[in-house]
Amino acid sequence: MRSVEVLIIGGGPAGSSAAWKLRRAGRDVLLLDRERFPRLKLCAGWITPEAVQDLGMDVRAYPHSLITYPRLRMHFGRLQLPVPCVQHSIRRFEFDAWLLERSGVEVLEHNVRQIVPDGEGYRIDDAFRCRYLIGAGGTRCPVYRTLFRELNPRASELQLVTLEHEIRYDWQERDCHLWFFGHGLPGYSWYVPKERGWLNVGVGGIAARMKKSGHDIREHWGYLTQALEGGFAPGAQYDPTGYSYFLRGNVEVVRRGNAFITGDAAGLATRDLGEGIGPAIRSGLRAAQAITEAAPYELGDVSGTSLKSIVRSMFDRTARAGALAGLRGHAPG
Ligand SMILES: Cc1cc2nc3c(=O)[nH]c(=O)nc-3n(C[C@H](O)[C@H](O)[C@H](O)COP(=O)(O)OP(=O)(O)OC[C@H]3O[C@@H](n4cnc5c(N)ncnc54)[C@H](O)[C@@H]3O)c2cc1C
Repeated sequence: MRSVEVLIIGGGPAGSSAAWKLRRAGRDVLLLDRERFPRLKLCAGWITPEAVQDLGMDVRAYPHSLITYPRLRMHFGRLQLPVPCVQHSIRRFEFDAWLLERSGVEVLEHNVRQIVPDGEGYRIDDAFRCRYLIGAGGTRCPVYRTLFRELNPRASELQLVTLEHEIRYDWQERDCHLWFFGHGLPGYSWYVPKERGWLNVGVGGIAARMKKSGHDIREHWGYLTQALEGGFAPGAQYDPTGYSYFLRGNVEVVRRGNAFITGDAAGLATRDLGEGIGPAIRSGLRAAQAITEAAPYELGDVSGTSLKSIVRSMFDRTARAGALAGLRGHAPG
């Protein structure tokens, strides 16, 4: 049996951010993930300036695909709203592997099945023992299922269902587009061009509301791809995959003894736009801080909405000018 001080389950943005902070504080950390990195993660890969800042990242020095958009284009029916703000897109396949490597943590490929409390710590699959356990395993996180589900279940009415595909495509439209509530979708569809000839398109909506309306996510996928065929992406071929995660509800219990849950495991994606990367990073950092500083683990500064920060970045002229000076991926229009 291998013993470590901190064991992290899951190497997505929540797990790698926690690992990064703990390693920098010189702590003894091991991270387990059931997949070998780089691994596929369904995600549009839109990241905010706050996420970039939390990671202490210089976008100009990032070695993989990254586009900085000088605006988002939001559509509500026939109304198109160009929102001047700074946002970025990355490919999760590259980004997650890069974050994990940068953290300097030791990573083992291991699918966690059993977690047993053991004194002040935990035993994992009778193979690992730790004092602190960080659950960063996403929607199906075993730490959530074993230690938190009963105490603080994620709200089923906030479950989001998605369909998405990231394809090679020689896109010409350079902005990121979001279409809200089209054909009664309780959510939105997206077109996210990525650097080096990649394009991510997808559709996401609240599962319960879609079921009630009698429409299914595949129908909405059909509307989106039909519109793209006649618009930004003629001739594109898709084979979409589905994934589900939870928007932020009343997340009250995120620490139990020496176990923590972070990111999608806790259901922290923003209520308005389903942004989960930023909240995963921030919560991972806060869990690590709780360990390094023997402080409470609190989510007070893990925002439950995205629009507030988008609006803030619209009016923050200095931040916009600074970010636009380092614009990557295409020229400002
Ligand atoms: C289609 C789609 C589009 C999205 N678009 C965006 C977007 O554009 N911007 C944004 O901010 N958010 C987006 N999100 C949300 C975002 O992807 C997630 O919120 C984010 O990845 C959460 O990070 P995490 O680290 O908590 O979990 P994850 O990134 O899911 O990482 C969890 C890790 O845990 C591992 N794991 C799971 N179970 C086990 C186990 N039993 N043992 C060992 N390892 C395990 C997994 O292999 C995985 O590597 C999107 C989500 C979807 C589905």
